[in-house]
Amino acid sequence: MDEFELIRRYFARAGDGGAGVVKGIGDDAALLSPTPGMQQVQAIDSIVEGVHFPDGCNAADIGYRVVAVNISDIAAMGAVPRWVTLSVSLTGADADWLESFSAGLFTACAEYEVTLVGGDTTSAPVLVATVNATGEVAPGQAILRSGARPGDGIYVTGTLGDAAAGRQGLESGEPSRELLWRFARPAARSDYGRRLAGKASAAIDVSDGLAGDLDKLMRASGTGAEIDLEALPLSPALQTGFDLERQRDFALFGGDDYELLFTCRGQPPDGGIVPVTRIGAVSKVSGLRWFLRGEPVHIEARGYSHF
Ligand code: ADP
Ligand code: MG
Repeated sequence: MDEFELIRRYFARAGDGGAGVVKGIGDDAALLSPTPGMQQVQAIDSIVEGVHFPDGCNAADIGYRVVAVNISDIAAMGAVPRWVTLSVSLTGADADWLESFSAGLFTACAEYEVTLVGGDTTSAPVLVATVNATGEVAPGQAILRSGARPGDGIYVTGTLGDAAAGRQGLESGEPSRELLWRFARPAARSDYGRRLAGKASAAIDVSDGLAGDLDKLMRASGTGAEIDLEALPLSPALQTGFDLERQRDFALFGGDDYELLFTCRGQPPDGGIVPVTRIGAVSKVSGLRWFLRGEPVHIEARGYSHF
């Protein structure tokens, strides 16, 4: 199977015919019709075998993940995702692997209502998948990291720490199905993100753990935060599987949650089936302050950095 056959077989599925797609896969570049008057939002994220997921991960999960993590960034801007392009560097052209990868990828595309409109395919010594996502948002409605103001509430969607706990299960061989699933199939909060447009004062998606991402959000806004540790939303699966200290550790430092962390003045929009939890408030004083039953507690900062 050569490169062109590979693209045709596994990726050139739905190129044309998607909303706003004049020409998808098959020409030198994709030709798109943006919605008149809308601003464009672009995100790109790569996932690398051995860095973002353990070697030998399920190919469908990898395909799903590389789309979902980008949709999550688009959601954190309050935008509607429209189109994606995909660059894959493959260690070989294994038909079963490609079949599975593309199935996961198109599952995510269908779920988040985006069209794959192009990409690039190369070989490399390690598997790397990169997706570029384009979204749209009305002018002035995008949610930036810099908009938090003292007195705003701090909120988070869903539950925290599950994916990291699941990943731990994956590596140590004692998986909880539910937690494993949260790692394998991260749910981007696309619907809720767009509902936050024009309402949230600032937002970020939680990819590196609450503590690190909250710190980024507050620094970008020139503010600080006071967080009630008891308010952190923790899933029943996490609570039954680990003691309280480990639960909080996963929630604060675990990463891979892809929940939305945002600030809002007044009541945030209803999340429907997605829980939305107030965990604290923005303060004038910079830095993060953590509280347990009203008493300040010290939490050592630590995050993930590639270098
Ligand atoms: P070029 O040499 O002009 O870059 P390619 O052979 O790389 O052309 O790509 C041919 C077409 O297939 C282009 O439309 C490109 O966007 C698309 N394509 C290539 N790889 C992928 C992929 N992994 N997923 C989706 N589309 C792809
Ligand atoms: Mg190319």
